Amino acid sequence: MIFEEKLLSNYDYFIIDLDNTLFLEIDYLFQGYLEISKKVSELSNLNQKDKMHQYLKEHFLNIGRKNLFDNFLQEFNIQNFKIIDCLKILRNFNPVKNIYLFKEMYFFLLFLVDNKKKIIVVTNGNVNQQKNKIRSIKWFGLNNSIEFVYANNYKPKPSIASFEYIYYKYKNQIDRTLMIGDMLSDEEYARNAKIDYLDIKELKKNMKNK
Ligand SMILES: [Mg+2]
Repeated sequence: MIFEEKLLSNYDYFIIDLDNTLFLEIDYLFQGYLEISKKVSELSNLNQKDKMHQYLKEHFLNIGRKNLFDNFLQEFNIQNFKIIDCLKILRNFNPVKNIYLFKEMYFFLLFLVDNKKKIIVVTNGNVNQQKNKIRSIKWFGLNNSIEFVYANNYKPKPSIASFEYIYYKYKNQIDRTLMIGDMLSDEEYARNAKIDYLDIKELKKNMKNK
């Protein structure tokens, strides 16, 4: 039996993470960093938009997002722009370039929809930002068959507060529910909820092996 059919016969409910599971997060993030760089460069008359964008991208890739805007504003000695202003842009900008699902995941979601499986995307992060991301992604209609649950409205993963919401809403059978994600917090979420877990790398590997 092919891998996907095995999944179909074992599960009816698929809880799926968003960032770096369904799409590449930096496709969104780096466009937001460009918006921030533009705005800060304009306001400060520094004309260093490209340098700023480069700084933000490198900081994210090498050090991460911790203290990112703090360090950025310090590095360029920006006084008239605050961290909160950076965050506001990041949470509300409109991406110029289209954001696509990972190709394998587009086909996987399509396959689940065709087989009438229930798909619930559970995502951590600022709710406005996550909504903006979801609005920006090209779903080609698949979003109409997906319920989006913003974990921060309850408590971020690995807390299962958002799972409890799902459980009471769908009365889903725990042994017929699969979690798919890319981070330890996803794995722990599944463990805490006592549902099976599949890492995105495993899924992609198995889909390629056909
Ligand atoms: Mg993720």
